[in-house]
Amino acid sequence: MQRLFAIVFSIPFLGVPIAMISMLWSHDGFGGPPIAMKIAGSLICGAVGFAGLFMMFTAIFGKAASRHNAVNRSQLTTSKTHEYKCTNCGAGIGVDSDISPSGDIKCQFCNSWFNVNTI
Ligand SMILES: [Zn+2]
Repeated sequence: MQRLFAIVFSIPFLGVPIAMISMLWSHDGFGGPPIAMKIAGSLICGAVGFAGLFMMFTAIFGKAASRHNAVNRSQLTTSKTHEYKCTNCGAGIGVDSDISPSGDIKCQFCNSWFNVNTI
């Protein structure tokens, strides 16, 4: 749903510059915008269009990449936490144990806290 919203949101960023550039360059002859404005307008629209293109690509391919990273991270956490054992009762520490950012782990069996850095 979030990806769909991002794709829809990026459509004007692509469509508006394309429409602007075609409008700028289709008015040939008398009454058309001056050449400097055509070039400046095209450059600005090109930059906006590039941003829109980038947004759309991120929306389509960004989600798959982040899911791949999440799998890798959970595998890393699993292999890392399985090495630790409770210093109080000797029980193995699984992924569902509480781990603080500073490395403190709560044992599921005896509810005692210990630090991974002190093992
Ligand atoms: Zn314990």
